[in-house]
Amino acid sequence: YKQLKWSVQRNNTDIIMEGALIARDRVGVQDFVLLDSHTSEAAFLNNLRKRYQENLIYTYIGTLLVSVNPYKELDIYTVTQMQLYRGVNFFELPPHLYAIADNAYRVMCSEYNNHFILISGESGAGKTEASKKILQYYAVTCPTTEQLQVVRDRLLLSNPVLEAFGNAKTLRNDNSSRFGKYMDIQFDFKGAPVGGHILSYLIEKSRVVHQNHGERNFHIFYQLLEGGEKDLLCWLGLERNPQKYAYLVQGRCAKVFSINDKNDWKIVRKAFSIIDFTEKDLEHLFGIVASVLHLGNIQFEEDSNGHAIIRNGTQIKWISKLLGVHLSILQEALTHRKIEARSEEVLSPLNVDLAFYARDAVAKAIYGRTFTWLVNKINGSLANKDSTRKTVIGLLDIYGFEVLDTNSFEQFCINYCNEKLQQLLIEMTLKAEQEEYEMEGIEWEPIPYFNNKIICDLVEQKHKGIISILDEECLRPGEATDLSFLEKLEEKVGDHAHFVTRKLADQKTRKSIDWVDFRLLHYAGEVTYCAVGFLEKNNDLLYRNLKEVLCNSKNGIVRDCFLLSELDSRRRPETVATQFKNSLMSLIEILMSKEPSYIRCIKPNENKEPGKFDDCLIRHQVKYLGLMEHLRVRRAGFAYRRKYEHFLRRYKSLCPATWPHWHGPAAEGVERLIKHIGYKPEEYKLGRTKIFIRFPKTLFATEDAFEI
Ligand code: ATP
Ligand code: MG
Repeated sequence: YKQLKWSVQRNNTDIIMEGALIARDRVGVQDFVLLDSHTSEAAFLNNLRKRYQENLIYTYIGTLLVSVNPYKELDIYTVTQMQLYRGVNFFELPPHLYAIADNAYRVMCSEYNNHFILISGESGAGKTEASKKILQYYAVTCPTTEQLQVVRDRLLLSNPVLEAFGNAKTLRNDNSSRFGKYMDIQFDFKGAPVGGHILSYLIEKSRVVHQNHGERNFHIFYQLLEGGEKDLLCWLGLERNPQKYAYLVQGRCAKVFSINDKNDWKIVRKAFSIIDFTEKDLEHLFGIVASVLHLGNIQFEEDSNGHAIIRNGTQIKWISKLLGVHLSILQEALTHRKIEARSEEVLSPLNVDLAFYARDAVAKAIYGRTFTWLVNKINGSLANKDSTRKTVIGLLDIYGFEVLDTNSFEQFCINYCNEKLQQLLIEMTLKAEQEEYEMEGIEWEPIPYFNNKIICDLVEQKHKGIISILDEECLRPGEATDLSFLEKLEEKVGDHAHFVTRKLADQKTRKSIDWVDFRLLHYAGEVTYCAVGFLEKNNDLLYRNLKEVLCNSKNGIVRDCFLLSELDSRRRPETVATQFKNSLMSLIEILMSKEPSYIRCIKPNENKEPGKFDDCLIRHQVKYLGLMEHLRVRRAGFAYRRKYEHFLRRYKSLCPATWPHWHGPAAEGVERLIKHIGYKPEEYKLGRTKIFIRFPKTLFATEDAFEI
């Protein structure tokens, strides 16, 4: 009985919660489905606001959870709260992350299938916090053994390490994830967490060498300087003051009120020891972090021939020591470029600009690849080696839709990623739900929704999409420029409905587009991208002689990251955008094979202020997150559906005509059965192969009768 009730509530649309009804005036309803005027955006916002002001940050739309960032500590994440939600059907308690987590977990245990929880929302909306809280929930409530404690701790502690290297203070969020993360938690047949695996997506490497005003580099740099032991800093040749490092001063905010770098350093150090990092690993790892800082301080000047030479020898000596590369070879590699001419290799000197470019390219490359190495290393320590079948719950915490003052290649990739995830949500909920009704011949008033497939195609379609056009330009070195890329865009996708051409921008919207910009109409709004740097970032080239130096490094991590085989390969490496596109495609494939749960996070205001509910900002998010469409589909839908055969098998004892055997078609049997038990016409619909029941209470009543 419990199990059936359980599967009912998974499709719950209209469960009347007594508690919610009594309290609705003061605190609103805890499921938007219960709103009287469920189609009105104003009512939706009112409900959200009422609840937010009462510190009720969570609200359901059926089984989807909407969360509004409280920007203050709430007393709802205690172990007592966790125990409260454990094993309880989620409409029996106030909405919570834990209910979503518990729901996925219990279905996984009873049906032995795989799940994922997609957490989406814009930067600062609370995705990472939500994913950490869910992980803690599993760590506390799932069965475990002494042996498995290690796995549990490693799963939890992988977070501070990845956040140190992959998060940074931005204008929007003091702890903004600058990479996408998908983490599978693996469970054995008893439901104990026994391992994990992390996939990371496109870390924002450009931050290593450049930060906007008010933003910082990745946390690890400041943590190391603030918290690093004296001996360690001395060994790395570093001074404690971040102001001394060119890569740390551009944003002019090395110190942030909300961040305690010293304390975070301690947590990260402890995490390293539990995740199985050896002293040697750490020596190499911090050697790389320090080398990046030293690289940033290298200055070039012109010699009498206009060629770049390194101004001061101190930094390069430290880099040579820490990366284990030959000093003079490194010096030469930073100021020359190897060119192949008539089967001969010639060293051509760089001018000062190109030398700076090469320096930054090395810093970005070693940091970016080290991040991937870190993820692999953590995966090694989370891997479960026994071959018994496991089920998984995947947590997806990926960068939210981003619109900055100047949007570059990174925002283009991030926003494309959000388009893909929106598309997944549409495919798995709105479209899937409506297609099922259609297939079953159920009368149904289609709910209009915006399908963003058209925008995904604009970006990713082979030969015709923006990524293909960009890649083609990248294949014409020397000839193509960011501007020729823009011209190609105008020529090839200029008349696409979601690409705003220059002509149209001027005539219709009267907002002209700068000559280096292009503009896309995303599902979440209009974004203007500055094309400067697109080709370079997409190519992501590192001069061959610099690669050679790194391949021969004595620093174990650098050597793992730069393999000699890469130098031999004549194949052109995939561009960054294409790699990203492919990794997203395989992510979508992974997700499509699992049962979904959704958490939609909302940012209440731009000032990180508790209690402030900015109507305009929130309305915009409600709109682009498609929450109203989702609500309409849930409201109009059916709570429960079951194949005729299954329904009959379970309830046939309730009707003399079907008990003990029914020999005719199952559909007819079901018709007789429900007539006998008195279903009213508005309570159900009969499809081609399934019965659809509108309200869960109808089914609960049937279950009760059946129990008696
Ligand atoms: P990004 O896309 O930039 O990574 P995000 O959606 O992951 O953003 P978080 O880092 O999770 O955002 O949240 C930003 C900040 O908001 C947190 O550092 C924390 O201060 C606050 N916050 C988020 N969720 C909660 C919560 N449930 N309770 C208290 N504070 C929260
Ligand atoms: Mg985050």
